[in-house]
Amino acid sequence: MSHPILDRWLVRRMGWPEINDVPTRRQLFQWQMARLRETLFHARTHSPFYARLYGKTPIPDTLTTEEYARLPMITPDDLRRSPEQFLCVSQDEIARVVTLESSGTTGSPKRVFHTQEDLEATKDYFDWGMRPLVEPGQTALVLMPGGRPGGVGRLLMEALERTGARAVPHGVLEDARTGVNHLLEEGAACIVGSPPHVNMLTREWERRDLPKDMIRSVLFCWDEIPDAVCFNAKNAFGCTVFRHWGMIETGLGGAVECEHGRGMHLRETDVFVEIVDPETGNLLPDGRFGEVIVSTPMRRGMPLLRYRTGDRGRILTGECACGSPLRRLDPLITRMHGGVPLETGTLTLSTLGKALYALPGLWDFTAWFSKNTLHIQVCGDSACPADKVRTALTNIPTVQAALAGKTLKLAVKVRNTTTPAVPGLGKRRLLTTEP
Ligand SMILES: [Zn+2]
Repeated sequence: MSHPILDRWLVRRMGWPEINDVPTRRQLFQWQMARLRETLFHARTHSPFYARLYGKTPIPDTLTTEEYARLPMITPDDLRRSPEQFLCVSQDEIARVVTLESSGTTGSPKRVFHTQEDLEATKDYFDWGMRPLVEPGQTALVLMPGGRPGGVGRLLMEALERTGARAVPHGVLEDARTGVNHLLEEGAACIVGSPPHVNMLTREWERRDLPKDMIRSVLFCWDEIPDAVCFNAKNAFGCTVFRHWGMIETGLGGAVECEHGRGMHLRETDVFVEIVDPETGNLLPDGRFGEVIVSTPMRRGMPLLRYRTGDRGRILTGECACGSPLRRLDPLITRMHGGVPLETGTLTLSTLGKALYALPGLWDFTAWFSKNTLHIQVCGDSACPADKVRTALTNIPTVQAALAGKTLKLAVKVRNTTTPAVPGLGKRRLLTTEP
Protein backbone atom coordinates (compact mmCIF):
# COMPACT_ATOMS: atom_id res chain seq x y z
CA MET A 1 0.00 0.00 0.00
CA SER A 2 1.37 3.44 -0.87
CA HIS A 3 1.43 6.03 1.89
CA PRO A 4 -0.75 9.14 1.79
CA ILE A 5 1.15 12.13 0.42
CA LEU A 6 1.01 13.96 3.73
CA ASP A 7 2.61 10.99 5.50
CA ARG A 8 5.56 11.23 3.13
CA TRP A 9 5.87 14.92 4.07
CA LEU A 10 5.53 14.01 7.77
CA VAL A 11 8.31 11.44 7.79
CA ARG A 12 10.70 13.84 6.03
CA ARG A 13 9.81 16.72 8.34
CA MET A 14 10.34 14.54 11.40
CA GLY A 15 13.78 13.72 10.09
CA TRP A 16 13.05 10.00 9.94
CA PRO A 17 15.11 8.16 7.37
CA GLU A 18 12.76 5.66 5.76
CA ILE A 19 9.52 6.33 3.99
CA ASN A 20 8.30 2.85 4.95
CA ASP A 21 8.45 3.90 8.57
CA VAL A 22 5.37 6.05 9.18
CA PRO A 23 5.06 6.83 12.91
CA THR A 24 2.18 5.56 14.97
CA ARG A 25 0.02 8.14 16.73
CA ARG A 26 1.86 7.37 19.97
CA GLN A 27 5.29 7.79 18.40
CA LEU A 28 4.15 11.07 16.91
CA PHE A 29 3.00 12.35 20.33
CA GLN A 30 6.34 11.35 21.84
CA TRP A 31 8.19 13.14 19.05
CA GLN A 32 6.03 16.28 19.54
CA MET A 33 6.58 16.30 23.30
CA ALA A 34 10.34 15.92 22.87
CA ARG A 35 10.40 18.88 20.44
CA LEU A 36 8.14 20.99 22.69
CA ARG A 37 10.37 20.25 25.66
CA GLU A 38 13.37 21.55 23.68
CA THR A 39 11.33 24.56 22.60
CA LEU A 40 10.40 25.30 26.24
CA PHE A 41 14.07 25.42 27.25
CA HIS A 42 14.99 27.41 24.16
CA ALA A 43 12.15 29.88 24.75
CA ARG A 44 12.81 30.51 28.42
CA THR A 45 16.53 30.94 27.76
CA HIS A 46 16.15 33.44 24.92
CA SER A 47 12.82 35.24 25.27
CA PRO A 48 12.14 37.70 28.11
CA PHE A 49 8.43 36.82 28.02
CA TYR A 50 8.97 33.07 28.39
CA ALA A 51 11.75 33.62 30.93
CA ARG A 52 9.16 35.30 33.17
CA LEU A 53 6.45 32.76 32.40
CA TYR A 54 8.43 29.50 32.61
CA GLY A 55 11.58 30.56 34.45
CA LYS A 56 10.82 28.56 37.58
CA THR A 57 8.63 25.83 36.08
CA PRO A 58 10.17 22.36 36.54
CA ILE A 59 10.25 20.57 33.19
CA PRO A 60 10.47 16.77 33.46
CA ASP A 61 12.98 14.75 31.43
CA THR A 62 10.18 13.09 29.52
CA LEU A 63 7.22 15.33 28.95
CA THR A 64 3.77 13.75 28.56
CA THR A 65 0.81 15.44 26.89
CA GLU A 66 -0.90 15.61 30.32
CA GLU A 67 2.10 17.33 31.89
CA TYR A 68 2.34 19.70 28.96
CA ALA A 69 -1.35 20.56 29.40
CA ARG A 70 -0.62 21.78 32.94
CA LEU A 71 1.61 24.60 31.70
CA PRO A 72 0.05 28.08 31.63
CA MET A 73 -1.62 29.27 28.43
CA ILE A 74 -0.78 32.49 26.62
CA THR A 75 -3.25 34.84 24.95
CA PRO A 76 -3.46 37.07 21.89
CA ASP A 77 -3.28 40.01 24.33
CA ASP A 78 0.18 38.81 25.42
CA LEU A 79 1.20 38.97 21.78
CA ARG A 80 -0.25 42.44 21.38
CA ARG A 81 1.37 43.81 24.51
CA SER A 82 4.93 42.96 23.69
CA PRO A 83 5.49 40.87 20.56
CA GLU A 84 9.26 41.53 20.57
CA GLN A 85 9.50 39.88 24.00
CA PHE A 86 8.58 36.56 22.37
CA LEU A 87 11.58 36.69 20.06
CA CYS A 88 14.26 34.06 20.68
CA VAL A 89 16.61 35.19 17.92
CA SER A 90 18.00 38.58 16.91
CA GLN A 91 15.95 40.84 14.64
CA ASP A 92 18.55 40.20 11.90
CA GLU A 93 17.31 36.64 11.60
CA ILE A 94 13.72 37.71 10.95
CA ALA A 95 12.73 37.40 7.30
CA ARG A 96 9.12 38.58 7.55
CA VAL A 97 6.99 40.46 10.05
CA VAL A 98 3.22 40.30 9.78
CA THR A 99 1.18 42.91 11.60
CA LEU A 100 -2.35 41.85 12.46
CA GLU A 101 -4.77 44.66 13.18
CA SER A 102 -6.34 44.43 16.56
CA SER A 103 -9.76 43.21 17.50
CA GLY A 104 -8.66 42.67 21.09
CA THR A 105 -8.77 44.62 24.28
CA THR A 106 -5.42 46.43 24.22
CA GLY A 107 -6.00 48.22 20.91
CA SER A 108 -2.48 47.55 19.64
CA PRO A 109 -1.83 45.18 16.74
CA LYS A 110 -0.28 41.72 17.03
CA ARG A 111 3.07 41.29 15.35
CA VAL A 112 4.28 37.90 14.21
CA PHE A 113 7.92 37.31 13.30
CA HIS A 114 8.94 34.64 10.81
CA THR A 115 12.47 33.43 10.12
CA GLN A 116 13.60 32.21 6.71
CA GLU A 117 13.44 28.69 8.14
CA ASP A 118 9.75 29.19 9.08
CA LEU A 119 8.93 30.40 5.56
CA GLU A 120 10.79 27.44 4.02
CA ALA A 121 8.86 25.03 6.24
CA THR A 122 5.54 26.57 5.19
CA LYS A 123 6.54 26.37 1.53
CA ASP A 124 7.47 22.70 1.96
CA TYR A 125 4.08 22.02 3.59
CA PHE A 126 2.24 23.86 0.79
CA ASP A 127 4.20 21.84 -1.77
CA TRP A 128 3.17 18.46 -0.30
CA GLY A 129 -0.31 19.54 0.82
CA MET A 130 -1.17 20.80 -2.69
CA ARG A 131 -0.03 17.67 -4.52
CA PRO A 132 -3.44 15.97 -4.36
CA LEU A 133 -4.97 19.16 -5.83
CA VAL A 134 -2.63 20.12 -8.66
CA GLU A 135 -0.57 17.85 -10.90
CA PRO A 136 2.66 18.84 -12.63
CA GLY A 137 1.80 21.04 -15.61
CA GLN A 138 -1.48 22.22 -14.07
CA THR A 139 -2.31 25.70 -12.85
CA ALA A 140 -3.94 26.93 -9.65
CA LEU A 141 -5.53 30.37 -9.59
CA VAL A 142 -4.97 31.93 -6.17
CA LEU A 143 -7.47 34.60 -5.10
CA MET A 144 -4.86 36.51 -3.14
CA PRO A 145 -2.04 38.90 -3.92
CA GLY A 146 1.24 37.30 -4.96
CA GLY A 147 3.66 40.18 -4.85
CA ARG A 148 4.68 40.18 -1.20
CA PRO A 149 7.71 38.00 -0.44
CA GLY A 150 6.74 35.51 2.25
CA GLY A 151 3.01 36.17 1.69
CA VAL A 152 0.61 33.28 1.06
CA GLY A 153 0.34 33.93 -2.68
CA ARG A 154 4.09 34.08 -3.17
CA LEU A 155 4.79 31.03 -1.00
CA LEU A 156 2.23 29.04 -2.99
CA MET A 157 3.82 30.14 -6.26
CA GLU A 158 7.24 29.04 -5.08
CA ALA A 159 5.89 25.80 -3.57
CA LEU A 160 4.02 24.67 -6.68
CA GLU A 161 7.00 25.41 -8.93
CA ARG A 162 8.88 22.63 -7.16
CA THR A 163 6.72 19.93 -8.73
CA GLY A 164 6.32 21.64 -12.09
CA ALA A 165 2.84 22.96 -11.31
CA ARG A 166 1.98 26.64 -11.33
CA ALA A 167 0.19 29.07 -9.00
CA VAL A 168 -1.08 32.27 -10.57
CA PRO A 169 -2.06 34.98 -8.11
CA HIS A 170 -5.24 36.74 -9.15
CA GLY A 171 -5.12 39.25 -6.31
CA VAL A 172 -8.06 39.89 -4.05
CA LEU A 173 -11.27 39.14 -5.94
CA GLU A 174 -13.03 42.35 -6.91
CA ASP A 175 -15.41 41.08 -9.58
CA ALA A 176 -16.55 37.51 -10.29
CA ARG A 177 -16.58 38.19 -14.04
CA THR A 178 -12.89 39.09 -14.19
CA GLY A 179 -12.14 36.19 -11.84
CA VAL A 180 -13.77 33.66 -14.17
CA ASN A 181 -12.14 35.31 -17.21
CA HIS A 182 -8.80 34.84 -15.50
CA LEU A 183 -9.58 31.17 -14.73
CA LEU A 184 -10.37 30.59 -18.40
CA GLU A 185 -7.36 32.51 -19.72
CA GLU A 186 -5.01 30.52 -17.54
CA GLY A 187 -6.81 27.22 -18.11
CA ALA A 188 -6.68 26.78 -14.34
CA ALA A 189 -7.50 23.35 -12.90
CA CYS A 190 -7.56 24.49 -9.28
CA ILE A 191 -8.80 27.48 -7.30
CA VAL A 192 -7.43 28.59 -3.94
CA GLY A 193 -9.46 31.20 -2.11
CA SER A 194 -11.70 32.32 0.70
CA PRO A 195 -15.17 30.73 0.82
CA PRO A 196 -17.16 33.85 -0.12
CA HIS A 197 -14.89 34.66 -3.06
CA VAL A 198 -14.93 31.12 -4.41
CA ASN A 199 -18.73 31.16 -4.05
CA MET A 200 -18.86 34.25 -6.26
CA LEU A 201 -16.91 32.34 -8.94
CA THR A 202 -19.18 29.30 -8.72
CA ARG A 203 -22.22 31.51 -9.35
CA GLU A 204 -20.58 33.25 -12.31
CA TRP A 205 -19.49 29.83 -13.65
CA GLU A 206 -23.10 28.62 -13.51
CA ARG A 207 -24.43 31.83 -15.03
CA ARG A 208 -22.22 31.29 -18.08
CA ASP A 209 -23.10 27.61 -18.17
CA LEU A 210 -19.43 26.61 -18.24
CA PRO A 211 -18.42 22.92 -18.24
CA LYS A 212 -17.94 20.74 -15.17
CA ASP A 213 -14.68 19.11 -16.25
CA MET A 214 -12.27 22.04 -16.20
CA ILE A 215 -11.82 22.81 -12.53
CA ARG A 216 -10.44 19.75 -10.79
CA SER A 217 -10.09 20.98 -7.24
CA VAL A 218 -10.82 23.88 -4.90
CA LEU A 219 -8.90 24.70 -1.75
CA PHE A 220 -10.92 26.73 0.72
CA CYS A 221 -8.86 28.71 3.16
CA TRP A 222 -8.59 31.90 5.16
CA ASP A 223 -11.98 32.00 6.87
CA GLU A 224 -14.83 29.83 8.15
CA ILE A 225 -16.03 27.40 5.49
CA PRO A 226 -19.81 26.94 5.33
CA ASP A 227 -20.88 23.48 4.08
CA ALA A 228 -23.22 25.12 1.58
CA VAL A 229 -20.26 26.86 -0.09
CA CYS A 230 -18.47 23.51 -0.48
CA PHE A 231 -21.62 22.02 -1.96
CA ASN A 232 -22.02 24.94 -4.39
CA ALA A 233 -18.42 24.54 -5.63
CA LYS A 234 -18.76 20.76 -6.09
CA ASN A 235 -21.98 21.32 -7.96
CA ALA A 236 -20.84 24.12 -10.26
CA PHE A 237 -17.35 22.87 -11.09
CA GLY A 238 -17.86 19.11 -10.68
CA CYS A 239 -14.66 19.13 -8.62
CA THR A 240 -13.21 17.81 -5.35
CA VAL A 241 -13.07 20.34 -2.53
CA PHE A 242 -10.37 20.47 0.14
CA ARG A 243 -10.61 22.51 3.31
CA HIS A 244 -7.67 24.16 4.98
CA TRP A 245 -7.19 25.76 8.37
CA GLY A 246 -4.29 27.97 9.31
CA MET A 247 -3.27 31.03 11.25
CA ILE A 248 -0.65 33.66 10.59
CA GLU A 249 0.52 33.14 14.20
CA THR A 250 1.52 29.55 13.43
CA GLY A 251 2.99 30.17 9.99
CA LEU A 252 -0.13 29.96 7.80
CA GLY A 253 -0.42 26.23 7.03
CA GLY A 254 -2.15 24.42 9.89
CA ALA A 255 -4.27 21.54 8.65
CA VAL A 256 -5.57 20.33 5.31
CA GLU A 257 -7.92 17.64 4.06
CA CYS A 258 -6.82 14.63 2.07
CA GLU A 259 -8.87 13.48 -0.92
CA HIS A 260 -11.30 11.64 1.39
CA GLY A 261 -12.61 15.00 2.63
CA ARG A 262 -13.30 13.81 6.17
CA GLY A 263 -11.52 16.36 8.27
CA MET A 264 -8.33 18.37 8.06
CA HIS A 265 -5.11 16.49 8.87
CA LEU A 266 -3.02 18.57 11.24
CA ARG A 267 0.46 19.76 10.35
CA GLU A 268 1.55 17.95 13.51
CA THR A 269 5.29 18.64 13.31
CA ASP A 270 4.79 22.39 13.24
CA VAL A 271 1.44 22.92 14.94
CA PHE A 272 0.57 20.93 18.05
CA VAL A 273 -3.14 21.31 18.82
CA GLU A 274 -4.91 20.82 22.14
CA ILE A 275 -8.62 21.32 22.73
CA VAL A 276 -9.53 22.73 26.15
CA ASP A 277 -12.61 23.76 28.04
CA PRO A 278 -12.50 27.57 27.63
CA GLU A 279 -13.79 28.11 31.18
CA THR A 280 -11.64 25.69 33.17
CA GLY A 281 -8.70 25.25 30.79
CA ASN A 282 -9.00 21.46 31.23
CA LEU A 283 -7.98 19.27 28.34
CA LEU A 284 -10.95 17.81 26.45
CA PRO A 285 -10.97 14.37 24.81
CA ASP A 286 -11.15 13.92 21.02
CA GLY A 287 -14.67 14.43 19.73
CA ARG A 288 -15.51 17.26 22.16
CA PHE A 289 -15.70 20.89 21.06
CA GLY A 290 -13.63 23.46 22.94
CA GLU A 291 -11.07 26.19 22.43
CA VAL A 292 -8.25 25.40 20.02
CA ILE A 293 -4.84 25.85 21.69
CA VAL A 294 -1.75 25.81 19.48
CA SER A 295 1.96 25.31 20.08
CA THR A 296 4.80 25.36 17.57
CA PRO A 297 7.22 22.48 18.19
CA MET A 298 9.70 23.44 15.45
CA ARG A 299 9.80 27.25 15.67
CA ARG A 300 13.00 28.87 16.86
CA GLY A 301 12.40 32.56 16.06
CA MET A 302 9.07 33.22 17.74
CA PRO A 303 7.78 30.01 19.25
CA LEU A 304 4.23 29.89 20.57
CA LEU A 305 3.54 27.65 23.54
CA ARG A 306 -0.07 26.93 24.49
CA TYR A 307 -1.49 29.92 22.61
CA ARG A 308 -5.24 30.48 22.94
CA THR A 309 -6.62 31.01 19.44
CA GLY A 310 -10.15 32.07 20.39
CA ASP A 311 -11.38 29.51 17.85
CA ARG A 312 -13.82 26.77 18.73
CA GLY A 313 -13.13 23.36 17.26
CA ARG A 314 -12.56 19.71 17.94
CA ILE A 315 -10.35 16.79 16.99
CA LEU A 316 -12.24 14.07 15.15
CA THR A 317 -12.23 10.57 16.63
CA GLY A 318 -11.27 7.45 14.72
CA GLU A 319 -9.02 7.11 11.73
CA CYS A 320 -9.30 8.66 8.29
CA ALA A 321 -9.82 6.30 5.35
CA CYS A 322 -6.33 7.27 4.13
CA GLY A 323 -4.80 5.69 7.25
CA SER A 324 -2.60 8.67 8.16
CA PRO A 325 -1.54 9.03 11.81
CA LEU A 326 -2.06 12.79 11.49
CA ARG A 327 -5.00 13.75 13.70
CA ARG A 328 -7.90 15.52 12.01
CA LEU A 329 -9.55 18.81 12.92
CA ASP A 330 -13.27 19.03 12.30
CA PRO A 331 -13.66 21.60 9.47
CA LEU A 332 -16.39 23.22 11.56
CA ILE A 333 -14.14 25.80 13.21
CA THR A 334 -15.84 28.93 14.42
CA ARG A 335 -14.80 31.96 16.39
CA MET A 336 -15.81 31.81 20.04
CA HIS A 337 -16.49 35.52 20.31
CA GLY A 338 -18.03 37.89 17.83
CA GLY A 339 -21.65 36.73 17.77
CA VAL A 340 -24.48 39.11 18.55
CA PRO A 341 -26.40 38.34 21.75
CA LEU A 342 -30.10 38.38 20.95
CA GLU A 343 -32.57 37.89 23.77
CA THR A 344 -33.23 34.44 22.34
CA GLY A 345 -29.59 33.35 22.02
CA THR A 346 -26.38 34.31 20.28
CA LEU A 347 -26.52 34.85 16.55
CA THR A 348 -23.27 34.21 14.67
CA LEU A 349 -22.06 34.75 11.15
CA SER A 350 -21.64 30.95 10.84
CA THR A 351 -25.35 30.43 11.48
CA LEU A 352 -26.24 33.06 8.90
CA GLY A 353 -23.77 31.59 6.39
CA LYS A 354 -25.22 28.12 6.85
CA ALA A 355 -28.73 29.41 6.14
CA LEU A 356 -27.94 31.85 3.34
CA TYR A 357 -25.26 30.26 1.14
CA ALA A 358 -27.64 27.36 0.50
CA LEU A 359 -30.04 29.71 -1.31
CA PRO A 360 -29.97 29.40 -5.10
CA GLY A 361 -28.81 32.61 -6.73
CA LEU A 362 -27.12 33.99 -3.60
CA TRP A 363 -23.55 34.97 -4.44
CA ASP A 364 -22.37 36.66 -1.25
CA PHE A 365 -23.72 38.60 1.72
CA THR A 366 -22.77 40.87 4.56
CA ALA A 367 -24.60 41.34 7.86
CA TRP A 368 -24.64 43.87 10.62
CA PHE A 369 -26.78 44.40 13.65
CA SER A 370 -27.80 47.77 15.02
CA LYS A 371 -30.74 49.17 16.98
CA ASN A 372 -32.47 45.78 17.24
CA THR A 373 -32.36 45.35 13.49
CA LEU A 374 -30.47 42.66 11.63
CA HIS A 375 -29.36 44.14 8.31
CA ILE A 376 -28.54 41.68 5.55
CA GLN A 377 -27.16 42.91 2.28
CA VAL A 378 -27.09 40.21 -0.37
CA CYS A 379 -25.34 40.04 -3.73
CA GLY A 380 -27.67 37.86 -5.71
CA ASP A 381 -29.31 37.28 -9.06
CA SER A 382 -32.96 36.97 -10.05
CA ALA A 383 -33.17 33.49 -8.45
CA CYS A 384 -32.67 35.12 -5.06
CA PRO A 385 -35.39 37.67 -4.27
CA ALA A 386 -35.50 39.38 -0.87
CA ASP A 387 -38.50 37.36 0.33
CA LYS A 388 -36.54 34.09 -0.07
CA VAL A 389 -33.70 35.57 1.99
CA ARG A 390 -36.21 36.67 4.59
CA THR A 391 -37.76 33.18 4.75
CA ALA A 392 -34.33 31.56 5.16
CA LEU A 393 -33.52 33.95 8.00
CA THR A 394 -36.87 33.34 9.65
CA ASN A 395 -36.10 29.61 9.68
CA ILE A 396 -33.13 30.19 12.00
CA PRO A 397 -34.58 29.34 15.46
CA THR A 398 -32.98 32.27 17.37
CA VAL A 399 -34.13 34.71 14.70
CA GLN A 400 -37.60 33.20 14.56
CA ALA A 401 -38.04 33.46 18.33
CA ALA A 402 -36.72 37.04 18.42
CA LEU A 403 -39.06 38.07 15.59
CA ALA A 404 -42.01 36.44 17.37
CA GLY A 405 -41.10 38.26 20.59
CA LYS A 406 -40.80 41.52 18.65
CA THR A 407 -37.26 42.09 19.89
CA LEU A 408 -35.76 41.92 16.41
CA LYS A 409 -36.45 43.42 13.01
CA LEU A 410 -35.07 42.33 9.66
CA ALA A 411 -33.85 44.64 6.90
CA VAL A 412 -32.95 42.73 3.75
CA LYS A 413 -31.54 44.28 0.60
CA VAL A 414 -30.59 42.33 -2.53
CA ARG A 415 -28.24 43.86 -5.07
CA ASN A 416 -27.71 42.29 -8.45
CA THR A 417 -23.95 42.59 -8.70
CA THR A 418 -20.85 40.52 -9.40
CA THR A 419 -18.69 42.27 -6.80
CA PRO A 420 -18.23 40.71 -3.33
CA ALA A 421 -20.41 42.03 -0.50
CA VAL A 422 -17.35 42.98 1.54
CA PRO A 423 -14.32 44.49 -0.19
CA GLY A 424 -10.86 43.11 0.58
CA LEU A 425 -9.75 39.91 2.24
CA GLY A 426 -10.27 40.59 5.95
CA LYS A 427 -11.87 37.84 8.00
CA ARG A 428 -15.62 38.26 7.88
CA ARG A 429 -17.44 39.30 11.03
CA LEU A 430 -20.97 39.98 12.14
CA LEU A 431 -20.69 43.71 12.70
CA THR A 432 -22.49 45.72 15.31
CA THR A 433 -22.24 48.96 13.35
CA GLU A 434 -23.10 49.76 9.77
CA PRO A 435 -20.05 49.06 7.56
ZN1 LIG B 1 -7.07 11.33 5.28
